[in-house]
Amino acid sequence: MTVSASVSSAKGRVLIVGATGFIGQFVAEASLDAGRPTYVLVRPGSVGGGPSKGSTIRALQDKGAIILHGLINDKEFMEKILKEHEIDIVISAVGGANILDQLTLIEAIKTVGTIKRFLPSEFGHDVDRADPVEPGLNMYKDKRRIRRLLEEYGVPHTYICCNSIASWPYYDNTHPSEVVPPLDQFQIYGDGSVKAYFVAGTDIGKFTIKTIDDIRALNKNVHFRPACNLYNINELASLWERKIGRTLPRVTVSENELLAAAAENCIPESIVASFTHDIFIKGCQVNFTIDGPQDIEVGTLYPDETFRTLDECFNDFLVKIDSKSMSNGEITAASPVAEPMAITATCA
Ligand code: NDP
Repeated sequence: MTVSASVSSAKGRVLIVGATGFIGQFVAEASLDAGRPTYVLVRPGSVGGGPSKGSTIRALQDKGAIILHGLINDKEFMEKILKEHEIDIVISAVGGANILDQLTLIEAIKTVGTIKRFLPSEFGHDVDRADPVEPGLNMYKDKRRIRRLLEEYGVPHTYICCNSIASWPYYDNTHPSEVVPPLDQFQIYGDGSVKAYFVAGTDIGKFTIKTIDDIRALNKNVHFRPACNLYNINELASLWERKIGRTLPRVTVSENELLAAAAENCIPESIVASFTHDIFIKGCQVNFTIDGPQDIEVGTLYPDETFRTLDECFNDFLVKIDSKSMSNGEITAASPVAEPMAITATCA
């Protein structure tokens, strides 16, 4: 099939939902960096956001974002702002617990009828192909339900399947790139030989924004498979060892241990454990070819664009480590790159 680049010259107005969140921040910044008129919908209050939410909003505002306050699960309100601000493109990056809030947003998009593209909150695996154990499966069922509604209503859409964010893939942390890779020991999943794709948060944002009015990405699953960032966890450990200039013990976390962590049903940690099992034991990112009619690889869309390498991303973590402890060879504790998100775990 021949595909020709067809990107409209006028930059459509973008509304981003979840821009105060982990993935949404990257997307909002990329939209602003690309010079797009960018509207950001902020959930009123500081639910789950904490003190950093205010500074995130201010930083986006300083870059030119127009801040709107409201909830996507308020249909009348959503219809009003979509019309009033003549929004062309809606990108949602709501978190795993709020995936079904998008059902109301989709109803509003359908009623308004002028949205040229909607990107639902995906930003991970191809949820129609990956099949994690519970409780991760439940989130995928929600994401699949959103996909089916979009398809049923004929809402123009793009599904961003960006795989893993560039970081050490801690099996119990929903936002692993906020924490430096291990400084005491590595936990190696299974035999550590199953590969995965790691993508810098800034690249998730940059390439997402590139797709939003690219006709080639219309109603497609856009897969992020940068060959330079395909690593198994043993290779990831060696990369980090080269950075810190020393070797660390490697401890095996078996398939059964990951399954047990998932079965504990502590939310959100058990969801991450089930995804970790799917990625590093079952190989859910690499065990299928992307040659279906709905599939497109982001590198084939934008062959002249480069991805940040995992090597570069690990340099970013390195500078976060106290240089004194590095020179003394006393690296013992992981320092958070950013304040970890407050997560309330509930276990069934
Ligand atoms: P976060 O929990 O960090 O942020 C969610 C955002 O959505 C927040 O800004 C939140 O507002 C906002 N929000 C939630 N509900 C509503 C609502 N009803 N109306 C308006 N705003 C709302 O999400 P993540 O960044 O962790 O997750 C986003 C997506 O990325 C998910 O689909 C997730 O599965 C995926 N993901 C992918 C990763 C990867 O490695 N590939 C890693 C992590 C997530 P508030 O600030 O008020 O809470």
